[in-house]
Amino acid sequence: MPNEIRTGEINIQPILLKQLNIQLDVLRLDKIHPVVSGNKWFKLKYYLQQAIDGNYAGIATFGGAFSNHILAAAYACNTLGIKCTGFIRGEMPQQYSQTLLDAQALNMQLEFVSRAAFADKDVIMQAYPGLFFIPEGGYGKIGARGAAEILQLVPDLSAYDHIVCAAGTGTMLAGITNAALPHQQCIGISVLKNNLSLEKEMLALVEKQAAGLVRIVHDYHFGGYAKYKQQLIDFMNTIWLEHILPLDFVYTAKAFYAVLDMAGQHYFPNTSKILFVHSGGLQGNRSFKKGTLLF
Ligand SMILES: *Cc1c(COP(=O)(O)O)cnc(C)c1O
Repeated sequence: MPNEIRTGEINIQPILLKQLNIQLDVLRLDKIHPVVSGNKWFKLKYYLQQAIDGNYAGIATFGGAFSNHILAAAYACNTLGIKCTGFIRGEMPQQYSQTLLDAQALNMQLEFVSRAAFADKDVIMQAYPGLFFIPEGGYGKIGARGAAEILQLVPDLSAYDHIVCAAGTGTMLAGITNAALPHQQCIGISVLKNNLSLEKEMLALVEKQAAGLVRIVHDYHFGGYAKYKQQLIDFMNTIWLEHILPLDFVYTAKAFYAVLDMAGQHYFPNTSKILFVHSGGLQGNRSFKKGTLLF
């Protein structure tokens, strides 16, 4: 990703865990940009480079109506002056989500495809041979290569023994694992319910020598992808009040809940140093009614 797009300052926020002898530091990738934030920058970087180098007529990608990936792709292409098409899962809604309105305002052309057609992406890709297609969610080795650069932002990387992040496609987790040091364990918190193919898909992007460093935890999905319970909303508000740390309900809130819960159950040995990657995604919170969140 050309650096001019990255506006905000990224930093590390230490979180004090009362009663636990653990250091928890949060890498604030959400600060990259107020709307288009987090890991999507890193995952898109080398796809965009390939598209530019290959002189394609434009870029296209896939996602749902609330997708952080769709909005990030729209923003990046608009900034770089690249024509961009978003294939959106499901029939055209009567009322566009805020994410789709924003993507459209950023000149992304929206094409709605039925769920059946969306499942068979090859057919769509073959119909547009001039476009460079980025896989849904930026999944793939090219996405993982960009995500590996996330750890370059950490000043004292070797100090940490655990690195924790949310996992959707597992691309970010794979990239982080490839860049991790041999004494570090990388833990991905799956935000999907029973996504048992995630390990295999993630490991397909991990270099052989790093495969032993990574594991996925499946116990903190709160009902499934983009689903939540009041308990999660209360947790997000508490974390905001106690630490001024904004979380999103799809990814980072579930992962942060997991890390605190696992710490409480003594998953991490005493004196552990944990790096939590706040992967952004706060724009998704705009789908809540005003007043639901305190931030
Ligand atoms: C997309 C996204 C993820 C998931 O990344 P994967 O590489 O698909 O696992 C995690 N956090 C946020 C905020 C995201 O937007």
